[in-house]
Amino acid sequence: MTWETIMTHKEHMATAVKLAKYALDKGETPVACIFVDKITNQIVAYGMNDTNNSLNGIAHAEFMAIEQIKLRFSNDHKGFAEFCSNCIVYVTVEPCIMCASALKQLRIHKIYYGCGNDRFGGNGTVLSINNNMSTLGYDGSIFQQKSIPGLYRREAIMLLRYFYVKENKRSPNPRAKLDRNLDTKNFPNINWSQYMDRKLFGQEFGLNNLRNYDSMTDLEDYKSIDWDLIDSHYDSIVRDIKKEIKQFKQKENKKLKI
Ligand SMILES: [Zn+2]
Repeated sequence: MTWETIMTHKEHMATAVKLAKYALDKGETPVACIFVDKITNQIVAYGMNDTNNSLNGIAHAEFMAIEQIKLRFSNDHKGFAEFCSNCIVYVTVEPCIMCASALKQLRIHKIYYGCGNDRFGGNGTVLSINNNMSTLGYDGSIFQQKSIPGLYRREAIMLLRYFYVKENKRSPNPRAKLDRNLDTKNFPNINWSQYMDRKLFGQEFGLNNLRNYDSMTDLEDYKSIDWDLIDSHYDSIVRDIKKEIKQFKQKENKKLKI
């Protein structure tokens, strides 16, 4: 078995979480994503929130990744669109309405994410762009985009909490209450039915876990926080991911030559 075939959704999301931690260490909002080719299971693009560094309000992680893919195809719109429709996105926080719309228009195959985005979530929390008719595929096609929350949900929430506490400390008028309490224990329930129906949940997580769906609780796998994952530093993460992307490109080029 090659390494590609043993990478699971959980492992891919762990990579996105590491990237989000890297962003946090660089002073960014800790939100990150990777795009994975659904056939080879290899990383093909990555993105981190860059709104603070670039002062560009739309420099969201998903847009950064989409831009990387776009560069590869320059004017080949058909190739670009086809490539995107074969991608699975792993993003630490639910895509905002703007990104959800972009991912839907590009007909991204499937989306996995960590925690919901209470204010701007476009995949179930505020709007359900992935499932509704407000946004069509780039070719005018109607389709339902599978979108699965809950992978490393608590870790994704914790990274955001780290960020807000840090920001608050830096602020000239820190809010003492926030500063004092970094909440590491309390997590809101996850109302799965807001994001996916029972059938999809069963398909994704197994019928034996449907009790989590009904009780709105995290899956056993994600109930206790993997502190190592979010407290480590990942200085080589970007280099590692770039290496994987390069490998993918080399394989693709070889295929084209045959
Ligand atoms: Zn966004």
